[in-house]
Amino acid sequence: MKIFGSSGVRGVAIDDLSPEFVLRIAKAAGTVWEADRVAIARDTRTTGEVFRDAAAAGLATVGCDVDHLGVVPTPAVGHHCAEYGTPCVLVTASHNPPEFNGIKLIGSDGVELSVDALSTIEDHVLDESFAETDWRGAGSSRRIDGVADAYVESVVDAVDRPAIADADLTVAVDPGHGAGSITNPEVFRRLGCAVRTVNAQPDGHFPGRLPEPIPEHLADLSRLVRTTDADLGIAHDGDADRAVFVDETGTYIEGDASLAALAADALSTGDVAVSAVNVSKRLVDVCADVGADLELTPIGATNIITRVRELEAAGRRVPIAGEGNGGVFFPDYRLSRDGAYIAARFLELLVDGAAASEVVEPYAAYHNVRSAIPYDSETERDRLLAAAEEYAGEVDAELDTTDGYRLDYDDGWVLVRPSGTEPKIRVYAEARSSARANELADDVLDALADAR
Ligand code: MG
Repeated sequence: MKIFGSSGVRGVAIDDLSPEFVLRIAKAAGTVWEADRVAIARDTRTTGEVFRDAAAAGLATVGCDVDHLGVVPTPAVGHHCAEYGTPCVLVTASHNPPEFNGIKLIGSDGVELSVDALSTIEDHVLDESFAETDWRGAGSSRRIDGVADAYVESVVDAVDRPAIADADLTVAVDPGHGAGSITNPEVFRRLGCAVRTVNAQPDGHFPGRLPEPIPEHLADLSRLVRTTDADLGIAHDGDADRAVFVDETGTYIEGDASLAALAADALSTGDVAVSAVNVSKRLVDVCADVGADLELTPIGATNIITRVRELEAAGRRVPIAGEGNGGVFFPDYRLSRDGAYIAARFLELLVDGAAASEVVEPYAAYHNVRSAIPYDSETERDRLLAAAEEYAGEVDAELDTTDGYRLDYDDGWVLVRPSGTEPKIRVYAEARSSARANELADDVLDALADAR
């Protein structure tokens, strides 16, 4: 695909991602969907209204009536679309910094479009093949209220509310000024938790922290957990389709560890779990323990969704899928990521009195390193990738080229791949000691640095 990456279209708003381009995407989507009615929603970014209006103009031009859902988290959009059978043009840049914005396309089943469906829309954008109408056929628009409330209700109904409420949990919630600010503290209140919040005002300038829920951004949340004696800290990205956690001591829980804990709870013998090629050994071990298969895709939610659909069509049960960045799918619930639901499932692991640190303790045996080398040009990118390929050919490790170069050693692994959203070559490593994980990453980084 040339336009849509593994997470839709993203760019620095107006400079890289122009309203004119979004208008064309909306025209193409409206043309391909052939829907009478299409929804538009957005996250809290300051440029959200610019792109909302561009998308609305594009859709009306190809004869679609527009339902404006307002500022809501991505999973609330999924819920609304599935409920009413309406596809949606969603304006969000998820975890990217404030200056970014982007477009995700959600189908009438509430799920992000598959790789094939996106490719069809892409062809229409590139060919400028739009089913434009004249003045008689132009679409109208209306505002839809209550989308956030209906979503909150749906999450509360989907989990074991009585058990969570009986556990008398205190949770600290950091939606990072994103769209989850509007819904998620309310979800946890309705589940019977005492809720403390930080960075919970919707604000596209993201004054308290940046939208990506990585450890460097979660000092406020750790402090809040400690000062309020909370049982769990919950943080979301800008569109609240991901959830990461800090334990009752304020310590960040690696996303790979929470994924493993949730997978151990969800999987039974004969099931399949789907993850990406940067999968942690933690999940590999969980699958082996319960006798479940593990399928790996290239990195990115779109790839995972496409693979889960294929497996389900073949009659396999896929109760869990996702990556170690807090983006976990529970396909029996919905084939899209839902930060509030992921967190509620984690709360279910605490109802018998186990502390969050105890729940993830079995998955503490591995250490991960993530690093990156930026590049300035395509030539430099190609040179770095050629060096990675050469390195992969020289070392004594099992090579997997599903997405970049993953090298599996007896005691750990390392993956080198170009980022899907930024001009960087990313390096991931995992081993049983942090020294070995660092060594695996550093060896590759040295080889790349030499090539440059
Ligand atoms: Mg997101």
